[in-house]
Formats: sequence, structure tokens, C-alpha cells
Amino acid sequence: TQAHIAAVEKARALNAYLLETPDRALTMAEVSDAKIARGEARPLEGLPLGIKDLFCTHGVVTTAGSRILEGFEPHYESAVTHNLWRDGAVMLGKLNLDEFAMGSSNETSAYGDVISPWRRQENGTLSETPIVPGGSSGGSAAAVAAHLCLGATATDTGGSIRQPAAFTGTVGIKPTYGRCSRWGTVAFASSLDQAGPIARTVRDCAILLGSMAGPDARDTTCADLPVPDFEAAVSRGVKGLTIGIPKEYRVEGMLAEIQKLWDEGAKWLAAAGARIVEISLPHTRYALPAYYIVAPAEASSNLARYDGVRYGLRVPGRDIAGMYENTRAAGFGREVKRRIMIGTYVLSAGYYDAYYVRAQKIRTLIKRDFEQAYAAGVDAILTPATPSAAFGIGEKASADPVEMYLNDVFTVTVNMAGLPGIAVPAGLDAQGLPLGLQLIGRPFDEETLFATAQVIE
Ligand code: GLN
Repeated sequence: TQAHIAAVEKARALNAYLLETPDRALTMAEVSDAKIARGEARPLEGLPLGIKDLFCTHGVVTTAGSRILEGFEPHYESAVTHNLWRDGAVMLGKLNLDEFAMGSSNETSAYGDVISPWRRQENGTLSETPIVPGGSSGGSAAAVAAHLCLGATATDTGGSIRQPAAFTGTVGIKPTYGRCSRWGTVAFASSLDQAGPIARTVRDCAILLGSMAGPDARDTTCADLPVPDFEAAVSRGVKGLTIGIPKEYRVEGMLAEIQKLWDEGAKWLAAAGARIVEISLPHTRYALPAYYIVAPAEASSNLARYDGVRYGLRVPGRDIAGMYENTRAAGFGREVKRRIMIGTYVLSAGYYDAYYVRAQKIRTLIKRDFEQAYAAGVDAILTPATPSAAFGIGEKASADPVEMYLNDVFTVTVNMAGLPGIAVPAGLDAQGLPLGLQLIGRPFDEETLFATAQVIE
């Protein structure tokens, strides 16, 4: 814990931590020392972790990367972080993220961009251009990649665990919707949001998810299922498994390097005893547009609670309506306002059927595509994690927002269908930046994902 506290202090230029909690960390570590000395070590005893600042932490400021929650001190602990502390983990601090987890590059945080510890190689030297860590869990991914924690919590609504993991050469799993409780996690799009870990190895992810997951009556969408021994699944191998390669993921303009890596990944799995089959997920191309209707719709509803009365920031106004308006105008950033406007529009009378209802129907079709593949005997599906490697800070932020949304083309289908998905590092691009592959599993079968990802790792 002391070594990590020192490393975090030295790496402040990355802006990965929004809040460092060294005193709390040392107190927790002392408890761990005492437990270990008494032979009572819990499963995560003394492991120093970073917490995405979307998880409410009792008495520790939780901002969701937004001005509107500046100074907000929750008087409760999220279910996921509670489970980690119950098992002996140590909190190093709160990690930066895109505002309310909306973004793919960690450039929408009200508290500044996160910088990846990676750099491009140009003509044998490291380029000066700062690289994005991906988003929205950019602080989590950068901190794990830069050894500023052993592992981190993250959340994934449309790719925010898997895309930053792929961009930073780390491992990230979004478990099945309902595997982790959402209680105490700041809501973005409630029917899509899931917590999961980012860590440096598949095994570390398995161990962390084993603690984070589990039934919770306070979240009615949380599954009442026992948590399997994920760590035991890691070394199971892939002999006899059928891995599907969905032809619709060969999107136009995909980098040759990524195509090559994808083919190689299939070969590695075949060499380890898996059967590789081509499959079809015909509604894939509708997933991204449908996601960018469903997610903003739910966000516009969830964000209605930030009214200047209940949490964080309050900007006075002439009357109460003026106070609401001033608070929300000052408290929310551009991307969040864009989502609120899109969401309000697609839910409004007259447009509800044309946009929101239609997007929900597409969602059902996407889910059925996967169900058919699994019913035909496919155990897991292999795809690239992202259509490109990480880009430079500012390279995509000012452009058309749709350009940024295209980052999520391979990941949003998984949230729309509620399935588990893992991103695992698989190679480097020509400029030395990490590239990841994604495995998508059957509902509540994270074990097969850990076993398969381990073969690729
Ligand atoms: N990039 C996607 C978005 O901005 C996904 C974000 C997430 O998974 N939290 O909506």
C-alpha cells in the first residue's frame, strides 16, 4: 500500500486519480496486517485498489466526473465497493472518468483529461503526443496500466470497461447484466449499466469479479444467483468449445492490423482445441444507432434528479425554477447536455414511437441474434474490442460526436443484449499501441470467458 501511495503521488501528471485517500488506505492496510498476523486473511486481504468515481463511497467525495456533484459526500457505500472492503481490499482513492460515464476517451470529465501511460513509437523514438486511455473508465485503465493500483473498479454501459482496457493493454470484463448490484453506483442508463473490474491479468479480473458480484435485494435487477469460483475457471482451457466469428463485425474501413489480430486470435484458440465457426448476427449494424437512443433516453430520466436541491452544486436563481436552470446549466458539461437533449427528444410525445419504441424493438432483435448463435451450440464469440488503437488527446474530441460514438461499434451490442464480454490484450499496432480482442459469452457464463481469454493472454 505504501509503495502504491508513492507511485500515485509521482504519477499525478496522468490525472488518473481525482482523489487520493492515503490515510484511509493506510488504516485499511493496518487492519489487513493484523488479520494476516492472526491467520484470518480474507480473499482480497491488503490488495490496494482504485475506485472509479461513479461508485458511491461512504464519507468520501463522489463526483461522477461532474461539476454538479462537486463536494458530494455519500452517506452510503455502493454494494460493489462494500463487497470489496468486506473481502479485505484497500482503497487508494477515486479514479477519473468521463462525466457521468458518457464518453470513449475520458475527455468529457469536468476535472480534466486522463492521459494514458502509453506513447506512440515514431521512427524508433517515443512520440510526445499524449494518448487517450479510452473511456469512460479512463482513470481506471490508466491507473492499472501505470501500476498505480493492483486493479480497479469500472462500469460499462456501452463499452466503458472493455474499450479502455483494450486501449491500455489491460484486461476488463463487463459481466452479465445483473451479476453485480447497481445499488450505490451513480446511474447512467439503468438497463445497460454494469460494474466490473479492470486489472492486469485475466486471473486478477476473475478474483476481483468474484468479490464484486453477488445477489443484492436492494437492486431488483440484480440476479439471485450464487457467484461461481471464477478463479478456478481461468485455467480450464478451451478444448471442445465452439467459438463463433460473426461475419457482420468485419466492418468497412477496419484496420488491416485489427483484422490480422482477429484471425490470429481465432488460430490461437483453434490450436488450443477450440472449434472455430463463422456465425451471423444480422442486426449488428443497428446496434450503435439504437444504443444512442436508448442510453440517452435513460440518461435524461436518471439525470433529472440533479436539481440543486438534493446533491452537490447549487447555483441560486430568481425562483426555484431559475435555481434548477442555473444549477443544471453550470453543473453539466457539453456531452451530458447533448445526451439530455437527445434523450428528452426521443422520449417526447410524437417521437416516442418513432425513436424510443423502435430502438427497443431493435434491441430485442439483437438479443435474439445472440440467442440463436448460442442455441446452435456456440459457447463464446470472438471479435475485435475496438475498431482502432487509442488516439491522441484532442484528435477526436472536437470532431463530429458521431466519430467518437463509432468507437463503441463492437461493444454496445453486448450491453443491448445484457451479455458478458471481456477485453483481453492481444498485440500491438504498428506504432506500438495495444490492441485488444473481445469475447462475448452466454448469460451468466463469465467462466467460459475467463478460460478463453486466458488462452489469448
Ligand atoms: N462510450 C459510450 C457512451 O458514451 C459508452 C459509455 C459507457 O459504457 N459508460 O455512451
